[in-house]
Amino acid sequence: MTSKIGFIGLGIMGRPMALNLKKAGHALWVHGRRAATMAPLVEAGATSCASPKEVAQNADIVFICVSDTPDVEQVILGENGLVHGVRPGSAVVDMSTISPTATRTFAAALKARGADMLDAPVSGGEVGAINATLSIMVGGGPAAFARARPYFEAMGKNIVHVGDHGAGQVAKACNQVVVAVTIEAVSEALTFARRNGVDPAKVREALMGGFAGSKILEVHGKRMLDRDFRPGFKARLHQKDLKIVIDAAHQLGLAMPGAALVAQHLNALMGSGDGELDSAAIVKVIERMSGAEK
Ligand code: NAP
Repeated sequence: MTSKIGFIGLGIMGRPMALNLKKAGHALWVHGRRAATMAPLVEAGATSCASPKEVAQNADIVFICVSDTPDVEQVILGENGLVHGVRPGSAVVDMSTISPTATRTFAAALKARGADMLDAPVSGGEVGAINATLSIMVGGGPAAFARARPYFEAMGKNIVHVGDHGAGQVAKACNQVVVAVTIEAVSEALTFARRNGVDPAKVREALMGGFAGSKILEVHGKRMLDRDFRPGFKARLHQKDLKIVIDAAHQLGLAMPGAALVAQHLNALMGSGDGELDSAAIVKVIERMSGAEK
């Protein structure tokens, strides 16, 4: 069945996710801040819109994949935001990684207009977005989840309804802690190997088959060895995600020393002008601290 779908935010993740929805045969209305980001979607047959409001006026279900909490706020509640165009009975699915607390506020504002909201952040990176193999962690009501499920299946593989509003964002925050602390561990291990005069590529190969093996050792470890820091997942976005974690932990009085340490290393990357690099560039911070730069 062809559905009327909206998509807002057409960056590294949003563009391939929207293209996969188009490939699944749906009619698509898109909005990006710049015409250039909309061009590949328009070429594929989507209709470009001047504002989120215009998207909402045309679509029954609107997906969002923008950068940070204030961006989602602007898209939903801003002057020409979705709340000014949504029709009762429509749904908004936010696939950005943002604050769980703010998510609950946005869901309430949409509910007041008769629209359902789901938070549905993703994991799996650009490759997962292109290949429609993303992990999707969803928060919100069961009826809205059932309605959105076929569209999630066009974008991802491991689709889990975690709980009520904000629960998807909490799951994604957990994901980012595990990823960040593992990138830190891989950075330290590969630098340790090199400083001991041992080939870090061979160490990675040896570790891959044992308990230290992981997707991060495989993908980010390879990026570190190849010195290929093209994003992928930008360090500035990872810094943003750990700020979400640390702010929430602060409110809860919860100690998260590992996450706090890596957040400092991401701050250092930002300070040295490397925020647009992939977050595998954490290895550069570790190297700089010990004069082990490559
Ligand atoms: P990105 O490449 O920087 O794309 C973000 C897009 O959002 C840009 O096209 C940006 O427009 C647009 N945008 C931001 N604010 C907007 C607004 N107010 N109105 C309309 N468009 C707006 O980032 P990304 O890597 O796709 O990440 C998007 C989200 O997915 C983030 O929350 C990120 O944490 C999450 N995520 C990313 C990955 C990954 O591997 N990249 C993996 C999982 C989750 P401009 O082009 O005009 O700046």
